[in-house]
Amino acid sequence: MATEIKPHRVVIASGNRGKLSEFAGLLAHWDCEAVPQSAFDIAPVEETGDSFVENALLKANAASHHSGLPAIADDSGLIVDALDGAPGIYSARYAGETAGDADNNAKLLAALADVPEAERSARFHCALVYLRHWQDPNPIICQADWEGRILTEPAGDGGFGYDPLFFVPSEAVSAAQLDAATKNRISHRGQAMALLLAALEQELG
Ligand code: IMP
Repeated sequence: MATEIKPHRVVIASGNRGKLSEFAGLLAHWDCEAVPQSAFDIAPVEETGDSFVENALLKANAASHHSGLPAIADDSGLIVDALDGAPGIYSARYAGETAGDADNNAKLLAALADVPEAERSARFHCALVYLRHWQDPNPIICQADWEGRILTEPAGDGGFGYDPLFFVPSEAVSAAQLDAATKNRISHRGQAMALLLAALEQELG
């Protein structure tokens, strides 16, 4: 049953260019303007949470508070079994606070240097949060995983983050070798967004 009015605009609580471009594709058919938080000069929040969900809530709360709009936030990362789940919630800063994608990928390859292919299983996880307003007591939270394994060298130049090292068995290529539409259809973020859009459709009609 529709209990809320569909918003005309939502703020996307991210400054990550790769994520923002994926969100634009994922929300293209929702008929609602997705405004990046940079449009409101919102600085990135400190990710002090102990879980993907906690960090996504922190980001959504700050973006909604400062913009006055409903907010969508994602906290995501790579979970590598041979590294006991690292880099996990620290994926963006695995190689240090100022690390870029290349530094993080180099550190991951070094950490797995002696790990054989059969033990290189990994998954991306995405926690997606929707806040109707910044003090929303009942956020919508959708989570999804994307299974794969870590390659021994980078392949492809699409996507962002760890995509060149993430082998996707169903497509037999790395995530960086997928076209944007295919990645959005099968990725952790794409699956979580499909769940969120279904929940919003049910609520907003
Ligand atoms: P967050 O902005 O704190 O959620 O950090 C997410 C980090 O996880 C990114 O900076 C990437 O390193 C990694 N990550 C999350 N999703 C993806 C993806 O779809 N492809 C590659 N790396 C990703």
